[in-house]
Amino acid sequence: MKIKTIRLSLPLRMGIVNCYLLDTGESFFLIDSGGKNQRAFVEKELENAGCRPGSLKLILLTHGDFDHSSNAAYLRRNFGVPVAIHTEDALPVEQGDMFANRTAPVNLLVRKLTPILFGIGQAERFTPDVLLNDGDDLACHGLAARVLHLPGHSKGSCGVLTSEGDLFCGDLFDNLKAPALTTLVDDPTALRASFERVKAMPIRRIYPGHGEPFTLDQLK
Ligand SMILES: [Zn+2]
Repeated sequence: MKIKTIRLSLPLRMGIVNCYLLDTGESFFLIDSGGKNQRAFVEKELENAGCRPGSLKLILLTHGDFDHSSNAAYLRRNFGVPVAIHTEDALPVEQGDMFANRTAPVNLLVRKLTPILFGIGQAERFTPDVLLNDGDDLACHGLAARVLHLPGHSKGSCGVLTSEGDLFCGDLFDNLKAPALTTLVDDPTALRASFERVKAMPIRRIYPGHGEPFTLDQLK
């Protein structure tokens, strides 16, 4: 399986977010969809990779935050591709409010301004086609991988672990200066448990939502 990283700059100098395009040789799978500000670039990158309507089989969202989910509804319309997200993060994408299911209190102004600043309108909201749960086997969609529920950053954060041992972890970890647990934490206890779980798994390489891939050893 080939992995193409699509790196997208975020508005307001908020850094870079990664989408990953998996190419099995027969079909494509997109992990995360990026922010709306880079929509045209995402489309270009899909096109350059030879990813067309019909060959893109599924969009998998690691969680509902705007920097990962804002192009999902648009790509669904253009590619006729279903969008999958963990059950617990369906509410934020349905409401266009990434704070809709957060446990930790959120500043009301931040909550109101976020969709305005990042262009999340009615057209970016969607009802997911596939609701993911822990342990789900993605073979039925044509991808040799399974879903790991890895809450902590958000309630419905999940990872995609391929049969080759590559983990697409969303924002559980990032690799900004060095590989580390995210500092954007909704539920610290859940985050720690997700970390312990991942540490015990046979994982070859971790592909974070922000930063370059790394190995488990680099985290310790
Ligand atoms: Zn993120």
